[in-house]
Amino acid sequence: MAHDECIFCQIAEGEISADVIHEDEHVVAFRDINPQAPTHVLIIPREHVASVDDLEEDHAELVGRLFLAAGAIARDEGLDDGGYRLVVNTGAGAGQSVFHIHLHLLGGRAMKWPPG
Ligand code: AMP
Repeated sequence: MAHDECIFCQIAEGEISADVIHEDEHVVAFRDINPQAPTHVLIIPREHVASVDDLEEDHAELVGRLFLAAGAIARDEGLDDGGYRLVVNTGAGAGQSVFHIHLHLLGGRAMKWPPG
């Protein structure tokens, strides 16, 4: 169920505009408004789940669909040869600022490890 006050639910429902590059029955993907790499896409489920910490057993398909979409979008964006990074910040202490679960797809530049 969508949360009225959730900005990513509002993007998924088309109530707030975003640079949407993929959407289907289950997931929506759009470019991050504050990109941290030449390609920075956010992949979200239509269903509102706040974070990884809120996942339950019956979200297994939802999680799988996020990753399948990420791989397909990475190929569409030409990132598969050079590599890319998927990030899921979980909790404010880890940098999560929007509490609607999302994958960050980052690519187009060299990545360092460990991340900051
Ligand atoms: P996180 O900090 O992991 O929760 O990631 C949230 C991301 O959402 C940040 O990278 C923000 O730049 C991005 N963001 C916030 N609002 C919007 C928006 N309206 N459109 C696109 N990206 C957004």
